[in-house]
Amino acid sequence: MSSASLDQMSIRDLRGVGPQLSQKLSKIGLTSLQDLVFHLPSRYIDRTKITPIGSLQPHTDVVLEGEVRASEVVFGRRRSLVCKLQDGTGTTVLRFFHFSRAQQDRLKPGAKLRCFGEVRPGKFGLELYHPEYQHLDGANPPDLDDTLTPIYPLTEGISQIRIRDLCSQAIKAIETHGIPELLPESIKKQFSAELSYSLIDALKLIHSPPPGFELHRLATGEHPAQQRLAAEELIAHNLSLLKMRQKVQAQPAPSLPYKSEVIAHFLNQLPFKPTGAQQRVTKEISSDMEKSFPMLRLVQGDVGSGKTVVAAMAALQAIANGKQAALMAPTEILAEQHRVNFEQWFKSMNISVAWLTGKVKGKAREVQMQRIADGSAQMVIGTHALFQEAVIFNDLGLSIIDEQHRFGVHQRLALRNKGFGENQSEQESSAPHQLIMTATPIPRTLAMSAYADLDCSVIDELPPGRTPVETAVLSNLRRNDIIERVRASCIEGRQAYWVCTLIEESDVLEAQAAEVTASELQLMLPELNIGLVHGRLKPREKLEIMGAFKAGEINLLVATTVIEVGVDVPNASLMIIENAERLGLSQLHQLRGRVGRGSAKSHCVLLYNSPISANGSERLKTMRQTSDGFVIAEKDLELRGPGELLGTRQTGDMQLQIADLQRDAHLLPQIKMAAETLLNQHSKNVQPLLTRWLGNNQQYAQA
Ligand code: ADP
Ligand code: MG
Repeated sequence: MSSASLDQMSIRDLRGVGPQLSQKLSKIGLTSLQDLVFHLPSRYIDRTKITPIGSLQPHTDVVLEGEVRASEVVFGRRRSLVCKLQDGTGTTVLRFFHFSRAQQDRLKPGAKLRCFGEVRPGKFGLELYHPEYQHLDGANPPDLDDTLTPIYPLTEGISQIRIRDLCSQAIKAIETHGIPELLPESIKKQFSAELSYSLIDALKLIHSPPPGFELHRLATGEHPAQQRLAAEELIAHNLSLLKMRQKVQAQPAPSLPYKSEVIAHFLNQLPFKPTGAQQRVTKEISSDMEKSFPMLRLVQGDVGSGKTVVAAMAALQAIANGKQAALMAPTEILAEQHRVNFEQWFKSMNISVAWLTGKVKGKAREVQMQRIADGSAQMVIGTHALFQEAVIFNDLGLSIIDEQHRFGVHQRLALRNKGFGENQSEQESSAPHQLIMTATPIPRTLAMSAYADLDCSVIDELPPGRTPVETAVLSNLRRNDIIERVRASCIEGRQAYWVCTLIEESDVLEAQAAEVTASELQLMLPELNIGLVHGRLKPREKLEIMGAFKAGEINLLVATTVIEVGVDVPNASLMIIENAERLGLSQLHQLRGRVGRGSAKSHCVLLYNSPISANGSERLKTMRQTSDGFVIAEKDLELRGPGELLGTRQTGDMQLQIADLQRDAHLLPQIKMAAETLLNQHSKNVQPLLTRWLGNNQQYAQA
């Protein structure tokens, strides 16, 4: 084994790589031999055998051999050269859109060809568009491939043939130079024995699997050789989060001791007593904030579990120590609701609250910014506008992010660095404590990966007196019955939500749909006072309507999913959700959490459009059967995958090459342990692992 290491060997050392090609390669992050070796095929094709033309199947990649029987240039929408190819079993069509005169001359009847391409259904039967082909002239046809052919993720201007050649050169290089095993035996032992591939063997197999080799398992990424690499990749990602955590916690933070008098005063004026779970989580937060390095804590608590009070107590601990606290919410409505609560709770304690959202403009904005900067605002509440460059805090001790699932990992990390931390006054470079709250219960294993940089607390108890929401799943055909039910309930003095959902991510269309529904309902329910909120209303209008609903002046509130998070009106005990089959379970759960907040029995009706798919029907059945956010999240994960659950941005940011959080979920428990062991006992392997797997994406690791 030579001492040169692969990550220091440039792609330029390979045969056939000049400055131009190496520049193109570097655009997709390929600069060293190591990068190439870990540039893994996204799929495989089988060119080891010839398929009889008579048995072609659409959408498969095949090798064909046959004789050209006819060939002509056809002038359709696009000029194309069409050749009929025949073997002993049948005839098919090869279609070329670009062809030279010379090519055309040689593709004449009688020419014998071997071609390779994807079979597609065409106007007159199956066709191959632009197949690769070679003429079979002599008596000895060239050999077929003896391994499955890998297809690599590519960039423009590099052919598969090129990259295949480079990867196979790179693999030869690891055979001579070796490649370091970065996972110690003790860690590999924790995974199933199947995964005990050496790195070289796994890579060789994946880059050039022998013919007939379990193509099926390779195609799904479940082959142990791939799983071996997936595990390593997940470990690398986990390590990057752990490193990030270390980096943040290497900064000093103000130690903020618990102030029992202040908290006691706060609790005295609350109309209820915190639940055991709220008290426990408050203690966990409180003791983090006493430390002289930044807290990084995630609070998970189902909808309605009472996270706001927990946040308020954390804020008080900062404020009682002379610091500022900031709370960021994902929507204006939610931010406004927090403002109302906090102002009410903090009024008698003479704590001043500042308010900043994108919609606070002009003079009003200047005033708020000034109060934040000079420290006269002790509690700052707003939307992500809080994190803009221009906002400068006087002395921020705690930042709280509510409903984190609405923000991506990236945003979370950006906030951590660009946000409050950097805007701190210069003389004191300490970082604020950070509290993150989410109502999307994430299955434990997934949380351990996605939030490896955070400590977790769970509020696993609902305030007393809540009765579970009874859920019915009904076809849209029963709409009139439902409208009657709304009437009956409102006449009894209860209130109801009617939620309109659209699949398009369009505020405008969604608002229109809600308007139409509202006027239709008003026609059928003339005796009710019906309100309408959607994302297109001015903030003031929205707040007025929410206020009227809260005060009981509006009986039925027609709304878009803007009410999904946080809205709190205990007298509302009936919710109708239209097109429920289109929404994710976690989102339905969030919506449903708007009812069942008072002591009256609450109901939720999920309306679907018939006919409903099997998957849709199963999802709605889950909603009917359980109100446990964790069970629902597990089911959502199973039925829709982690992208939906964490928000596409979050998983998208992770840019996993070979691992797949859902498929490989069974690996996750060991991943966390492995990452910690590496960090503590094999720290010299950590950076090489990050370079190997995150490479140029390390800005993510360092965000
Ligand atoms: P979420 O966790 O969904 O943010 P909230 O903080 O909005 O929940 O609380 C939901 C409702 O429960 C609010 O009306 C709040 O005042 C009330 N609440 C919170 N904690 C308790 C408690 N310990 N006992 C009774 N009601 C509570
Ligand atoms: Mg909340």
